Amino acid sequence: MTTDRPTAINPDPRISMGEGSLDAQSSTPSADPLPATQIHQMLQQQWGDALLRRLHGIGRIAANLGTPAYLVGGCVRDFLQNHPMPDIDLAIEGDVRAVAEACSAELSGAQCTYHPHFGTAILRYPDGFQLDLARCRIEHYPAPAALPEVQPAAIQADLIRRDFTINAMAISLDPEKFGEFLDPYGGRTDLQRRLLRVLHPHSFLDDPTRILRGLRFAVRFQLQLEASTRGLLEEALTQNIFARLSGARLWRELKYLLELTDLPAALEELGAWQLWPLLRPTPLEVEPLLAKIRRGQQEIHWFHRHFPDEKLCDAAVLLTILWRDIPWAAEKRLHYWPVTDGRYILNDLHRLSEIPAALAKASHPSAVAQLWESLSLPGILALLAEYPETDTITKSGRYYLLKQRGLTSPLNGKDLQAMGLAPGPQLGKVLRHLHDARLDGTIKDKETARQWLIRQGILPSIQP
Ligand code: ATP
Ligand code: MG
Repeated sequence: MTTDRPTAINPDPRISMGEGSLDAQSSTPSADPLPATQIHQMLQQQWGDALLRRLHGIGRIAANLGTPAYLVGGCVRDFLQNHPMPDIDLAIEGDVRAVAEACSAELSGAQCTYHPHFGTAILRYPDGFQLDLARCRIEHYPAPAALPEVQPAAIQADLIRRDFTINAMAISLDPEKFGEFLDPYGGRTDLQRRLLRVLHPHSFLDDPTRILRGLRFAVRFQLQLEASTRGLLEEALTQNIFARLSGARLWRELKYLLELTDLPAALEELGAWQLWPLLRPTPLEVEPLLAKIRRGQQEIHWFHRHFPDEKLCDAAVLLTILWRDIPWAAEKRLHYWPVTDGRYILNDLHRLSEIPAALAKASHPSAVAQLWESLSLPGILALLAEYPETDTITKSGRYYLLKQRGLTSPLNGKDLQAMGLAPGPQLGKVLRHLHDARLDGTIKDKETARQWLIRQGILPSIQP
């Protein structure tokens, strides 16, 4: 089903016409008015004078160009909740590039980067502070879950293309009415009542990623699905709407979900919203799985604390834990999702069960290290998550990561060739043995390595 094209007078025909339309405002009594002077005062208290001056500057420049500017979306929501300084998004009713370039020219030190493909710009200040600018627009979805066609629009129309009422509020930066609060769909009241409400009945069908965005907001801000929005979610799931979404778009949303600090709460909510099948078949016992996820998050934090410069795909660790008992379901999903390190996950899932018994049998440190080496980094951390922090397996895995994995042979290929060994596969084997000997503590430097090679009969006892 396609949507009617909105008009300037009626930004979205579904809102106020026809049966089943969702008039967000009429179903919720509005909160006390929030006059511009009060917003101004609150902005000053929460965001400080320096930022306020910057916002005044941008508002003035935008007005001079005849292109009003607004604070919009998540930053207004977070501001109303007095949350720590959010990322700041500005909506511009006109030429974004012109506004960003004029700001860059007129405001001391601000640098502008314009992205023509998206029609967005970033303003960066010398102290590292940055603002995102986007053009007010309206979106038309040619088919359910398709990418939208976009047209420039005014702020009122721009607000209705958004996902939830709590994200459809704006604050004017225009010098004539700086601080004027725009809340046409009752977002502030919903925020006070902790309700998550879409702006029109077709919202989840147009863009099912909103369902997962909503789930994240519900967890982050302790929101409940408003009753008709819950009905719309159920309807969208009945229509199997996620089957229409590309693997890349679905994975992007799920990855954000897996990155939530309160992931166990998010997974519980996933169950309540009947969305487990997106990630995996519904587990028979959710609690033990959530406990492993909590342990997995501990191991991820441990890793980042000890190796702050090393890359780790946290989501790959969590997926390995989530798919531990169901490699077949993992295979199906990895076929469609562009998971970083995804190619290792299946190998790990097949190997994980063997490792603990093999570790117990390993007689030398080098044998232990080889077992850990047979897993990817996410696989190692996923295995550690199955044991308490004090368990010998956890200690062994952490020791491997901290000490063993960084150990190298004191002699490299060039050294060995200088000693008369011919290049080729045999040389590779010798290097491997030297590496094992280093792990086992048999050698520690070039000299002990050379003596070890002589004892092994690899080098003659009298060298030229
Ligand atoms: P966060 O704190 O996670 O950044 P946010 O609300 O700022 O929350 P963004 O992804 O940064 O989320 O998006 C900024 C705004 O753009 C949202 O507040 C919302 O108004 C709008 N938006 C983003 N994605 C969608 C979408 N899929 N459908 C409709 N509106 C969207
Ligand atoms: Mg944001």
